[in-house]
Amino acid sequence: MKIPYEVWECMVSHLAGELPGEGCGVLVGQGSTIRYHALKNLSGDEAHFRVSPQEWVSLLHALERANERLLAVVHSHPSSPPEPSREDREGFLYPDACLLIVSLTNPAMPEARMYTKKGPSFEKRPFEILPPELI
Ligand SMILES: [Zn+2]
Repeated sequence: MKIPYEVWECMVSHLAGELPGEGCGVLVGQGSTIRYHALKNLSGDEAHFRVSPQEWVSLLHALERANERLLAVVHSHPSSPPEPSREDREGFLYPDACLLIVSLTNPAMPEARMYTKKGPSFEKRPFEILPPELI
């Protein structure tokens, strides 16, 4: 997956804005166009995220209407490495999408890893952040 720099920045600034809690959102796209859509984390807890089922359903409907695909489910780890927790593994319900975890242990240098679900395990998947377009 190739993530345009602007989309990456928009995602990271949303996730950093949710500190000290976890932030969550999705990367959606159509063809090579990708955008970030922020979701509201209902969990007051610092180590979990929970999106309301209504928000998921309306998001999925909106994607269908716009002919967009769910590319990745994104959340941050405020103070741990970008590795899926047990809960992340068990709660991942969208095998066609990737799981993108952004560690904000050092918010100035976010560390992100993308995974795909292969059966019961998660495999790392390379991704690229495209440099900002030169004007
Ligand atoms: Zn997690």
